[in-house]
Order: sequence, then C-alpha cells, then structure tokens
Amino acid sequence: MEKISQILLEHYGLELDAVKALQGYEDKTYLIKSGRQAWIVKEHTSTREMRYRISFESDFMRHMDRIKDYAFPIPIQTCSGSDYVEFNDKLYRVLRYLNGTFLGELEPNIWPATELGNLLGRLALHSKSFEGMCQDLNPSPWDLQHLCLHKATLDENYLSSKLESRIRYFIQQYEINVIPHAHRLPKAFIHNDANEWNILTNGQKIFGLIDFGDACYSWTINDLAVGLAYILMQRSDPVSVACEVIAAYHKVRPLDLLEMDVLYYLIAGRLCLSLCNSAKALKERPDSEYIGISAKPAKSLLYHWLSLNPIEVTEAFKSAAGLSKTKHIVETDVMIHRDRHFSKALSLSYQQPITMAKSAFQYMYGADGTTYLDAYNNIMLVGHSHPYLTEMGSLALKQLNTNTRYHFKNLYTYSERLLGYFPKSLSKIFLVNSGSAATDLALRMARHYTGQKHIASLEYGYHGNTASGIAVSHYKHRPGFTYPDTLILPLPNAALLRKDQQTNAGEIFGLIGAAKLAESEHPIAGFIAEPIVGCGGQVPLPKGYLKIIYNQIRQLGGVCISDEVQVGFGRLGSHFWGFEMHDVIPDIVILGKPIGNGHPIGAVICTDEIAASFAEGPEFFSSFGGNPVSCAIGEAVLEIIEREGLQTHAQNTGSYFKEQLKNLQHIFPHISDIRGCGMFLGVEFSTASKEPATKWAQWLKNGLRDNNILSGTDGPFDNVLKIKPPLPFDASNVEEFTGKLHDLLKAVPYC
Ligand code: PMP
Repeated sequence: MEKISQILLEHYGLELDAVKALQGYEDKTYLIKSGRQAWIVKEHTSTREMRYRISFESDFMRHMDRIKDYAFPIPIQTCSGSDYVEFNDKLYRVLRYLNGTFLGELEPNIWPATELGNLLGRLALHSKSFEGMCQDLNPSPWDLQHLCLHKATLDENYLSSKLESRIRYFIQQYEINVIPHAHRLPKAFIHNDANEWNILTNGQKIFGLIDFGDACYSWTINDLAVGLAYILMQRSDPVSVACEVIAAYHKVRPLDLLEMDVLYYLIAGRLCLSLCNSAKALKERPDSEYIGISAKPAKSLLYHWLSLNPIEVTEAFKSAAGLSKTKHIVETDVMIHRDRHFSKALSLSYQQPITMAKSAFQYMYGADGTTYLDAYNNIMLVGHSHPYLTEMGSLALKQLNTNTRYHFKNLYTYSERLLGYFPKSLSKIFLVNSGSAATDLALRMARHYTGQKHIASLEYGYHGNTASGIAVSHYKHRPGFTYPDTLILPLPNAALLRKDQQTNAGEIFGLIGAAKLAESEHPIAGFIAEPIVGCGGQVPLPKGYLKIIYNQIRQLGGVCISDEVQVGFGRLGSHFWGFEMHDVIPDIVILGKPIGNGHPIGAVICTDEIAASFAEGPEFFSSFGGNPVSCAIGEAVLEIIEREGLQTHAQNTGSYFKEQLKNLQHIFPHISDIRGCGMFLGVEFSTASKEPATKWAQWLKNGLRDNNILSGTDGPFDNVLKIKPPLPFDASNVEEFTGKLHDLLKAVPYC
C-alpha cells in the first residue's frame, strides 16, 4: 500500500486515507479514499500492449463521457498530464469512482430492460464518432469476432463433456450463421462487457457503466448481444425481456435485418465465451469468487437457449423492433410438392405434418418457429446435430472417401472399437449402409451357412425394407401376400397372459415357439428377433424366452440373429445390447439406426465360422459400407457415448421416466401397461373393458404434438405410445413429457 500511497501523493497530489481491494478478473483494483472523495486505482503489469491499451481505453472513456445522462470511470490525469504512472514494472492509473448500486445487487426481475436497451443504443450511436485506434492491441478473448479461437480452450477439458458439447454446438452454429455475414456487419468501438456487475444504478435508474478493460473494435451489435446475455440469465421468460431491451435499443440506434439474424447466435456466443474464459481462469485461480460468478446462470441460460427455436426467437426480436416478418413455408404448398413427386407409399407423421428446419440434441426446430421436444427419434442417439460427430464427419469427408478394397486406418480402428463391445465369439464385421441391408446380408449368411432356407421371426416384428427383410417382417405383411420361406412365431407379450402366469411368460411363450419350430416341415436356417419388439408395441421378450428358442433353433441346425437396430448402443441403460439382458449370445447381430446417429450405416457382426462359410460364396462388396466417412462417424458415436456417459444417463433418466409414468398409471387406470427399460419405453392404453384403447393413444400422440412433444404409437392395435428419445433427453424433459401427458389424460374425450 505504501507504493500506492507514494504514487498518489507524488503524481496526483492526493493523500491516501483508506484503501480497499476489489474483486476483479485479472488486474488488481482498489477503492481508495482521500479526504471525503473516492477513486479507483488500477494496477497492471507494465507491457507495451498494456500502455497502448490504457491510452486507447482512456481516450475511449473520455469520448463516451460526453454522452448526456450517463457517467463513466474516466481517468484522472497525473500532475504532468499523463493517464498512468509507471513504477517498478507496474502501471498505475486513477479513475473516477462512480458511487451507486450495481444492477447485480438488485433482484433480476426488476432489472430495467428498457433502460439497458437505451444505454446500449446510446453507446453504439456515440461511439461512431470516436476516432481512436486499437490496431496494436492483441485480439481480446472476449471479442465475439474471435469466438472460434475458444475451441482450443475446449480441447483443454476444463468443462464437463456435456457442457463442452453444447458450447461446441453453438460455436458451429456461429460458424454457419454468423461468419459468412461478418463482413457486412457494421463495426464500431464497443464496451464489450455490459454485465450486471459493470452497470450502475441509483437503485432504480441506470446511470453508469464501468470497466472498459475489454473494449475493442468489433461488430457494433456485440454490445447489445453481451448486455442481453447477462440480463437474460435468471429470467423465466428471457425472450420477452430481450424484446424489451431490443425495442429500446432500436429506437436509439436502428438495427438492420442482418444484425437481427445473427443476434440469437451472438447471445449464445457470449455465453460460450463467458463459460470458456471463466473455466480457464478458474483453473489458474481456483479461489477467486468473482471469476465463476456467472458460470452457473450462464450454463443454465445456454441449456435453455437450446430449447428456443432460433427461427422463432429471431422473429420475436424483429417484431420487437417493428421489422418485417419473414414469410413462413405454407403447409399446403409443401403438400402439393409432396404429392407431385412422392408416392402415397411414403407416410407422414401426424394429422398435421410438420416441416422441420433445424435440430439440436433433444430438440427439433420447426420451420414455423416451433421447438419440438423429441421423445421419439432413437436414431439420434447422441443427440441431433452433435458437434463432435459433425466435426469428425466433415473432417473425414474433406480428406478421403473410398471403399473397403483399400486399407485405411479408421476402417480398422472403428471395427476393432465396435467389436470390443461384443463377446469374443462375435469377432467378424461387415459394414453396410442401413439396417435393412444388414438384415438382408444376415439372412443370406444364415442361409449360406446352414444350407437351409426358412427363417423364423416374431409376430409384429420389423427387420427391413428389402424383399428378404419384408418377408421376415410380419408387421408389414398384408392379406393376399404370402411369404412361404417365413415361419411366424407368436409375439411373447407377457401382458397378454393372466397375472399369475406373467412371471413364467418366458417359459410359456418359449415352449409354444419351440413347439412351433419343431413342428415345421421346413428346415430352419435361422431365427431373427429384436430383444424388445418395437413395432409390436415395445414388447420386451420375457426372461428365459430367448434361451429356449435359441436352443431349439440350434438343435434344428439354424442360427440365431439378434436385431439390435432399435435398442442397441446403450439405450437400454442396464446393457449395451439387448441380447445381454437375456443371457444369450447370438450367432449374428444386426446394427443400424443409432450406429451412425443419422448417417446411413448398418453392420452385421457374426462368428468366425459364419464369416468363413460366407467367404466361400460370391464376393461380398458394398460400395459405401465401411467407407472412411462412415467409419469416422461411427467412431464418433462410440466416443460420445463413452465420453458423455450416455449409457448410465439412459439408465438413470429411463428409471426416472418409468417412475413418473407409473405415478400417472395410479391416477389413470387406462394406462394398462408400462414396459421397456432405459430410454426405450412403451405405454399401453386399454379401455375399462380391457379392449385396446387405440383412439386414446392416437389422441394422446396428436395431443403431445400439439404441446410440441414428438412421440409415436405402435403395436398390433396401435395403442402403445412409444418413447425412445435422443439420449441428451434429461430429467426436466421427462417432467415436461409426463406433465403434459397428465394434462392430456385428464382431458381425453373418449370413455
Ligand atoms: N430392424 C429394425 C428393428 C428396425 O426398426 C428397422 C427400421 N425401422 C430396420 C431393421 C431397418 O433399418 P433401416 O430403416 O435403416 O433400413
């Protein structure tokens, strides 16, 4: 303190009476008293960059201080007219102290949104005439123009993998939605840190703004984006607060449409910057209270931001400023196009089909601005538009795309990693492009290996859209079509048995199935089934069933095929593959859907013997199966599952989901069964007289859609609500789903 006291006296003619250290991000800051007046003293390490910075900041603050009604911490000059004093490798400067209450000290719900808009607008307007220079300054880590540089911070693993992936998602969106327009965004000198601890009020009105330490030459709109990012934290309806700020800003400094289009992404970008910078700084100074102050609310706003459709938010921003609305796609126009070029064989979801525009993790964004919570798309296992997956896929696409007739590294790293999830006996892999192609190949293999033709499959099962796939998919069988090489076994649905028989369902259905197989006059090449029959209405095969059937099939010389297309890759929580729940090991496994998280990949995994026998037949070649791009994406899926602990998450969230559904069942007896496990669940509806309540299920599915939740129905009577969301679906999404379902169940119009 002696040093400061000496400097104040010598260079400013001030006698130091009291001093108090203040919290800050990097530099040391003190509140000092001399007589009845107070000042701020800042101490910095003396570097060439810092001397430039102080000169620039001082000029900028003096310029801004000409704005009427607002005060800024302008520098007090030394007796010799300098803005700072250099002493022992340090720089000291004295700034005007603004006495007031920080916005952050007030309750967030009374933060004056309109005044903030007015302040930020006035700053933008006034800074236009500032003629300073800052070309000698290093890029600020807080400048939104350099958001992409923070990918390096993320590589350092300062953040949880979940948060990291959300930040990477928004950085990618910024690269797509902001960077291409960057050269057209107006630029100016900006304050760049209008957070609640830099804005001063007299208890009600905003009158001052401090800390120009991050000021830079950047996109003018960034001051608005930064101010919004902070004021929206801890608000229950951030969009309407943002609209108030924007309306006030726009009155002072009119925004253009391009600025409006990027604002959603810039707000998210600032939250990402804040989270990256604070995580990095906290690693270096773990005891600082100030650094982490915004991290928690920034994280929750960032997660909340994902649930807000960028199209809708941007429209709301535009209309707050009275700017014209973009024309939405009209549903009837789309139907005309569809009918012109697509057969009715392709069905649409919902009575009122949805036009989708974008998606993120567990959310899908409709073109009309609606955000849908996706409780249905199990393909998107690791989440829609997962940034690690898109990054790995596009990197691979930019480097090499070829086929398995050449060696390339990731064909082997991926195959080995995937095979690592299987028992030792399943050691050979064939990569194809869909679940259907995998089924087709598996059936060919089974027939080749056994020299037999007939395939047994389950009632209401579905295994693919090729001719051979349809033949074994009872779900798609229609009257008048026969499939002579298929033997259909009854669906072993425990719910169909009397209560007292249900614990023995595996044995009861197993013996029925085994008898049917034994009675068959045709030699059986194989048996194909899903461990939980999705199209049958999410029916889990009862315990013991597969053991009996697999034994019988093998005795008859056939092979056992497990279709893991729907349930595989950790979705079930307790097990990575469905067959593991049944304590059996198949001879062939079929993979699809989540294996590529939306990228077309399929795979057949089989034993050495089956692969060797298949090699005796014609050469197998798939133009695209196992290409380097698919391998990169497949490997990324496994990496994300492991890194983000998605299997454990599926188990925990799935159990919570089931528990919540069971609570509903106590209130609404029309829920006749809740089945499945992890994040692969089914809710069956029946009438009071125990008939399938198909109308209920349909009404509820459409009702959920009207409440912006996507689900589906299936089963022989289409009375089972299917729940199989992307795994980022979390406990709050479960509550939203079951809360809406509860309200709908209270209002069902059927009895
Ligand atoms: N098996 C099962 C269990 C399926 O659900 C599906 C697709 N619904 C397939 C195979 C076929 O997969 P794909 O649509 O990728 O060809």
